[in-house]
Amino acid sequence: MELSARNVFTWLLANLLIMCGFVNRAKKRAMRGDHILSMYFHDPSKKEFEACIKWLKSNGFTFLSPEDLHNIITEDLAMPKGAVLMTADDGWKGNESNLVAVAEKYQVPITIFVSTEAVEEGAYWWAYLEKAKDLNISIPPKSSLKLIMNDKRAALINEIKRRTKVDRQAMTINQIRQISESKYVTLGGHTHTHPILVNCRTEQLYNELHVSKQKLEAWTGKEIKYFAYPNGDFGEREMRALSELGYKLAFSSEPRQTSRADLRNTYCLPRFGLLEGASLAENICRMTGVWKPLMLKFRLPELAKDENTSMETPVYRRRESTKLLTS
Ligand SMILES: [Zn+2]
Repeated sequence: MELSARNVFTWLLANLLIMCGFVNRAKKRAMRGDHILSMYFHDPSKKEFEACIKWLKSNGFTFLSPEDLHNIITEDLAMPKGAVLMTADDGWKGNESNLVAVAEKYQVPITIFVSTEAVEEGAYWWAYLEKAKDLNISIPPKSSLKLIMNDKRAALINEIKRRTKVDRQAMTINQIRQISESKYVTLGGHTHTHPILVNCRTEQLYNELHVSKQKLEAWTGKEIKYFAYPNGDFGEREMRALSELGYKLAFSSEPRQTSRADLRNTYCLPRFGLLEGASLAENICRMTGVWKPLMLKFRLPELAKDENTSMETPVYRRRESTKLLTS
């Protein structure tokens, strides 16, 4: 756990919730076999990821791959008791040693959703925002850039990109190729440039989904069938496009258990967000679905966030495309 006032407070709160039986009750519900707990990290350390996996294993949870989930859906199979599906978004360079190595050690499936432009160029678009200050370029914060049309956001970022470089954050093509050979790893799409899809023109949307799928398939020689929405934003148009382009399942960031009823629409599967740097106690509450609903109920949205950055907007917004987004 990273020591900060926030994390110490949430560590105390999480332990209180555990002591009061919230996690035990959630565990019992999960063991009934009527829902799946899907979850996602971004770039956890090896230690924190391993602690989560060990906790889930020692508490009798069953790990599913997206293929297992797809089989449950298409063959109408029963859900295993205590089913969990562990994923990670973006394709951070530490994922190979921190996630894949642990998944192999504990023989559990891990799914990594990769944005392909960052793999080719090195960094994600938001990394360039920090550089804007050094270059005296006035640019709105990340949270505002997520609300404007994609063309405008991309133009602002490209202006900074032309003038500076940032260190590599994402895995390389070689790393992608290497981890794809592990029998515990499934790679999925996460667009090419990590735009907010609902802010894209329709042509851009199709391009983002198609190009990233094609590149990942060329790099790995494997079909890319699964997808996670950047920032959790999507609408009917995005679901339709994924289906047309041959994706089979898509994951949102809606923090809910996945019930049998949720499996009827395979393009909006919920996931709980886990938080890098937080205590294991907090992430246990997050993994079991205890954390976010309680934090929102007690009007503590700051503590419900999935990313440890002040620039982040709350994730999960299912919204229709473009109409409101003219600024
Ligand atoms: Zn992402």
